[in-house]
Amino acid sequence: TGTVIPSDLYGFAERLTEAERSVLSTLREDLRTKVYPRVNDAWDRAELPDELVQAVRGLDLMDPRQLREAGEPIRDILTGFRNFELARCDINVGTLYNAQAGLFRTACTLGGSPEQAAELDPKIVTYELTGVFGLTEPDHGSDVAGGLATSATYDDATQEWVINGAKRWIGGATISDVVATFARDTADGQVKCFLVPREAEGVTMTIIPNKASLRIMQNAHIDYRDVRVPESARLQGINSFADVARCLRSMRSDVAWMAVGAQAGAYEAALKYVREREQFGRPIAGFQLIQEKLAVMLGNLTASLGMMVQLTEQQAQGIFKDENSALAKMYTSLRLRETVGLAREVCGGNGITLETDVARFHADAEAIYSYEGTHEINALIVGRAITGIGAFV
Ligand code: FAD
Repeated sequence: TGTVIPSDLYGFAERLTEAERSVLSTLREDLRTKVYPRVNDAWDRAELPDELVQAVRGLDLMDPRQLREAGEPIRDILTGFRNFELARCDINVGTLYNAQAGLFRTACTLGGSPEQAAELDPKIVTYELTGVFGLTEPDHGSDVAGGLATSATYDDATQEWVINGAKRWIGGATISDVVATFARDTADGQVKCFLVPREAEGVTMTIIPNKASLRIMQNAHIDYRDVRVPESARLQGINSFADVARCLRSMRSDVAWMAVGAQAGAYEAALKYVREREQFGRPIAGFQLIQEKLAVMLGNLTASLGMMVQLTEQQAQGIFKDENSALAKMYTSLRLRETVGLAREVCGGNGITLETDVARFHADAEAIYSYEGTHEINALIVGRAITGIGAFV
């Protein structure tokens, strides 16, 4: 399996079929040749160039040709390794892809009625319909479950929903057709979800400027003022926050896989650097203290990868537990933070320039650490499950 993933010491990728490996090696090559060359410049400028968006949308991933030809289904384990590979190239790229293929697609397939899912999914796979996930608000991040303040009121006269409020941090909103907007029904107080067109009257978006992390990915602040959408725009399967949580369980696994891929990207970039860099007349890779750091990084990666393979196989059997996804997101992000710190350290001064790649991973890891539930919130989900006592408030 060394050729599947160079740093997969224990051979977790052996669980993949030949066709799945072929999908991943095509992906890796496409990332290397079509995507990666655009990344550092875009990061430096804090821009999301259209060529990069098109290159990411052009990756044959949601319905890959190699699997179709082999007559194999798309298994969750491949989706996991796909997220790994994307973030191994770059966390922005993984996040951009996942806004459509993870967050938005999950909201529509898990949150839509069977008819809605059947209608929307083929369009999402081909990017005929693009969308993002609008849950977080300016005043409600961690406490969004109870605090969500965006409102949706049904207008009997016009048979439309009227949405008012604001969303914040919505990744990719300014380049997407619709925002899956979570709003509280003023009649029953429950959280519902509406596919709101980006260009609907009453929607205004501004890009959050001056980010020091995930600089390529554009995050929007969105205001909704008397925005009207028909009942057909409401995802019928989301009728309370418990339904949102069903989506989050799956999305947290996707992000955890990205945290592992980013560990691999940072570790491999650091390994390359220490082999090439010479001090005291020899490669610094030959020093004991450097090797200890490499071993810690590889240990983090191996433990995180094993955790994700096992969790994914469990979820593929239909076993979904909030605490299992929360623990995975919490743990892999924590290990990512340690790994990018060590990777940056072994690159010395050059580790803070974009040329060694680790500086980008180091900065972007901070976004992963906070989005899809912060470290603390995921820890509290686990804590509630193991003690039986909710400690959020
Ligand atoms: P806050 O909730 O204000 O938390 C601040 C700090 O307080 C954190 O450390 C938190 O852990 C801690 N804290 C809060 N409550 C407790 C408690 N009870 N006990 C202990 N500590 C606590 N959202 C979307 O809906 N869609 C997106 O596409 C999206 N993309 C994002 C992309 C980026 C780059 C970022 C940074 C965020 C994105 N988010 C998105 C939002 C993200 O999910 C939130 O940032 C996250 O949930 C945390 O909310 P907050 O930033 O408001 O922090």
